[in-house]
Amino acid sequence: MQIPYLSLQKITDRNSAEIHKAVSDVIDSGWYLQGKANKTFEENYARYIGTEYCIGTANGLDALSIILHAYKELGVLADGDEVIVPSNTYIASILAITQNNLVPVLVEPYITTYQIDENLIEAKITNKTKAIMIVHLYGRCAYTDKILNLCKKYKLKLIEDNAQAHGCMFNGKKTGSLGDAAGHSFYPGKNLGALGDGGCVTTNDSVLAEAVRSIANYGSSKKYVFKYKGQNSRLDEIQAAVLDVKLNYLDRDNEIRKQIAEQYISKIKNGKIILPQISVRDSNVFHVFPVRTENRDSLQKYLQEKGIGTLIHYPIPPHKQECYKEWNSLSFPISEKIHAQELSIPLNPALLQNEIDYIIEVLNEW
Ligand SMILES: *Cc1c(COP(=O)(O)O)cnc(C)c1O
Repeated sequence: MQIPYLSLQKITDRNSAEIHKAVSDVIDSGWYLQGKANKTFEENYARYIGTEYCIGTANGLDALSIILHAYKELGVLADGDEVIVPSNTYIASILAITQNNLVPVLVEPYITTYQIDENLIEAKITNKTKAIMIVHLYGRCAYTDKILNLCKKYKLKLIEDNAQAHGCMFNGKKTGSLGDAAGHSFYPGKNLGALGDGGCVTTNDSVLAEAVRSIANYGSSKKYVFKYKGQNSRLDEIQAAVLDVKLNYLDRDNEIRKQIAEQYISKIKNGKIILPQISVRDSNVFHVFPVRTENRDSLQKYLQEKGIGTLIHYPIPPHKQECYKEWNSLSFPISEKIHAQELSIPLNPALLQNEIDYIIEVLNEW
């Protein structure tokens, strides 16, 4: 059996007719940017997440970066201010910070949940700290009341990187509505994925929302009048129309993801493989199913030989990347362990039961 890590063709196929119709409606409309499809999707996604505002952007990195840029324009952040961020996140969370001349302060995650360790944050807060960026990595909620209380105590902005966690909940509220602002990515492989790049910002803050919308559109306040030195980061009408179709199936797809994860957790029994645990069912939408093992590379090779595609999220931690040379000698042992041991096995709503059974069988035989 051949099971790729993820087949986007199979994901799209399930709603192919509706997606084709949405795309051809945009083509025939003759209106390709900042039109009806954006407006409709922004309203529907804001309602889904539970925020007042949603602003489409060209991708998830821009969404995060523009939030920080907007806070700078509004006088909330200034060059050199510090933003706390988990040390094991995807590079985009950190790039958004450094792109704005802000300083990322890396905090280690829990080895059990892979989410930022709330108990390590306070010691890293200085008089330059102005925000905490939590990342709902792998689709699991990183928010805790303790983090919110730290934000209140030290007057910090709470920013969520919700790129991997569309539909994830904390106490009945969606991630993306828990802090001051959130960046979302609609990269094709995400739980809610476009047919190309896309992203958005959600927030309840009307002043921030207006600044974000302006910065994403050249900093324009009205046509040919520029209030900020902005950028061009708009969500295409075609992508907005596709996302609006797929949003209708997001909860169904997340439910399928959870049921597959539950099968993996109950049926994979191999002492050499550490599985993720579900604490609260609503608080994990399993963007990836991360397992850990001391012989990660040999497990990956074995699965490859058995026809099962896997990915590593991620092979090199941010502080060991060449682009952040200044951090290369720092030590973040928990992140380093995760990066050395993590392997993501296929988990997506197009997987068939016989494929799930085969993956379980092969992992148990290893
Ligand atoms: C995908 C991702 C992003 C960036 O999204 P793009 O749309 O690819 O720019 C940011 N943060 C995390 C955690 C991601 O997984």
